[in-house]
Amino acid sequence: MRNLPFDQPGRFYKGNLHMHSTNSDGLLDPAAAVAAYRDRGYDFVSLTDHFMERFHFPVTDTSAFRTADFTTLLGAELHGEGLRNGELWHIVAVGLPGDFAGQSPHENGMEIAARALAAGAFITIAHPHWNGVTQMDVMKIEDFDAIEIHNEGHTNDSERGNGWMLADALATAGLRFSVTAGDDAHFKARPDVFGGWVNVKAESLDPEALLASLKAGRYYSSTGPEIHNVVFTSNEIVVECSPAQAVFIGGRGSIKSFERGDGITRASFPIAPFQNSFCRVTVLDKHGKHAWTSPLWLDELNLE
Ligand SMILES: [Zn+2]
Ligand SMILES: [Zn+2]
Repeated sequence: MRNLPFDQPGRFYKGNLHMHSTNSDGLLDPAAAVAAYRDRGYDFVSLTDHFMERFHFPVTDTSAFRTADFTTLLGAELHGEGLRNGELWHIVAVGLPGDFAGQSPHENGMEIAARALAAGAFITIAHPHWNGVTQMDVMKIEDFDAIEIHNEGHTNDSERGNGWMLADALATAGLRFSVTAGDDAHFKARPDVFGGWVNVKAESLDPEALLASLKAGRYYSSTGPEIHNVVFTSNEIVVECSPAQAVFIGGRGSIKSFERGDGITRASFPIAPFQNSFCRVTVLDKHGKHAWTSPLWLDELNLE
């Protein structure tokens, strides 16, 4: 099943998919920015500097920072006109080729997203709440992989870091995509490091393997808790996780189910309400931190 990493071979690797360096508007140079995450225990990052003319269209080469137990994916945050509110698109592209060509003045946000997708990158619509991305905007994008549903930086500079309202509306409208959590780290005044990440299931810490898992949705997002397993049977959805105060399942429109308690590590829910729907799992811990699956589509399951 697309978007369900738990029964896939390999192990989970922790990564930050959204961050900036002195190659655009970040405080730290690429080596120091990447080292901060390596030293914190992350397995990989993608340095996603702003792909703008004033920064000379950087796709920062971070390959020199790869070691046996840490890797990087090349990336950039792409921009371009086209939002209905007159602002620029912000589209995080992870797994870009290092020679991704600069942007002509006429290439809009939808067009550069399509070009990055054709080049093999994993495309995420960044911080939709912060810059006011609507469903009507997303309908103009030919295709995309993910919506950023947690942006640590914009959680802390405007309380507009949560993209779930747009993501749930799009999933309810029938679009199929994954979701990501990321830091948007600039290492400046606001807290924007080590706050949101993805745990990607892959057979090795190889950039190509990680990119393939991202594209296939074999990961989940977190600001703290772990999701160990989500199992679907013919009549139940079973969630196993690190100790939680609540486990929520959301579906199409207003469909929901939940369990609350103290130190929940396993919760089960009837599957019936989620037939003809997607369902998505949220784990909330006692520190107020979350882990989220992407929307999971029951018609892609082979239920026993
Ligand atoms: Zn941005
Ligand atoms: Zn950014």
